Amino acid sequence: MSPQCCIITIGDELLMGQTIDTNSAWLATQLNTLGIRVRHRVAVGDVANDIREALDTALEWANLVILTGGLGPTADDITKPLLCDYFGGQLIQNNEVLNHVTDFFTRRGRPMLERNRAQAMVPDVCDVLFNNVGTAPGMLFKKGIQWIVSFPGVPFEMKFLFTKRLLPLLKQQWPVAPLLHRHVLTAGEGESFMAERLVNFEAQLPSGIKLAYLPDLSLVKLRLSAEAHLENDLEHAFSTLKDLVAPILVYEGEFKPEQALHTLFTAHGISLSLAESCTGGQIAARLTEVKGASAYFKGAFVPYATSSKHDVVGVPTAVLETHSAVSAETAEALAQLTQQQFESDFALSVTGYLEEGDHDNAVWIGLCNGNRVMSKKITVPYDREKNTQMVVNTATTMLYKWVNRTYNPK
Ligand code: AMP
Ligand code: MG
Repeated sequence: MSPQCCIITIGDELLMGQTIDTNSAWLATQLNTLGIRVRHRVAVGDVANDIREALDTALEWANLVILTGGLGPTADDITKPLLCDYFGGQLIQNNEVLNHVTDFFTRRGRPMLERNRAQAMVPDVCDVLFNNVGTAPGMLFKKGIQWIVSFPGVPFEMKFLFTKRLLPLLKQQWPVAPLLHRHVLTAGEGESFMAERLVNFEAQLPSGIKLAYLPDLSLVKLRLSAEAHLENDLEHAFSTLKDLVAPILVYEGEFKPEQALHTLFTAHGISLSLAESCTGGQIAARLTEVKGASAYFKGAFVPYATSSKHDVVGVPTAVLETHSAVSAETAEALAQLTQQQFESDFALSVTGYLEEGDHDNAVWIGLCNGNRVMSKKITVPYDREKNTQMVVNTATTMLYKWVNRTYNPK
């Protein structure tokens, strides 16, 4: 039977909004791919009663409870003694952990305090999940068939303990078949129109296969999910889905622009440069998230001020004066001149207004490859942050489509 999981994240800072609870999102993603259903996610403060209540409630139905946070060496970290008490145990010294903590401080040449030594005290009613990358160990309590796991809040320590320590045990305990997923990315049609396009397809899907719409600022991702034994049906449905969305299909699979562009450009041995005005370098930041991006990505201008579009990139003053800094002509000139200066095969430019002022909030995207040049205007209707994201999404998918069509004409 597939286990049902509750994630409890602990820390006052989570409730105050100072720290964004990325731990539970990460854990939920991992558990979902394993086929473990996360039914509740709860955040509580460093408050004993609140933690106890959250545990009581979770243990009424969950067979897997994962807690993060509250394992540090400071007074506000109360999870360990609380769990020890909750499960009726005593804190005892674990020599392996003590050696590790001592070694941790010796190697850094830092003195070790009693509160650090206390990290080696663990409940005698749990299995210790040894933490190679930090000083607080993880803990696994077993209560009948229910498992309760406690991890430190520090994200990289939590991820280490989940992947290296808990995962192998989970797979043995609950050998469930993970769900299968197939993704396509589409651009140019809103979610509601898409739902119309797919109304019959959705109605005829075999039971056990689900279609999800995941809209993301001018893009719509579609995901088909099925249990492992329905693999053939899933492939069949996926191939029908691709045909139905063919005119607006951008990418088959989970589209990450930095990864997709890296693969496409390096596969064809071609290069890219950017001129990013309104996105201020965010496209470049995304592309350079992938190791080895210099194999195709030559660099970027961020000519934010109108004067820099002329002084740095070389857009003629006449173009800027006649058509303005946010125009098809400027976007195309930026792309062409950037391509020339970086000597790249392709160049992408963006220039626009992200917020309403004495102008519409519109953005021009320019593309250039050799002597082919094009531009497109998009209207950005959200707040500044979301609009920036929308421009990054639209510009990178436009570029992907253009390059893909150039090299793989249908
Ligand atoms: P703790 O184990 O409570 O001492 O947590 C140590 C640090 O990990 C905190 O100061 C936070 O910055 C971070 N942290 C704790 N919980 C979370 C969470 N749910 N998501 C992301 N970061 C967290
Ligand atoms: Mg804390």
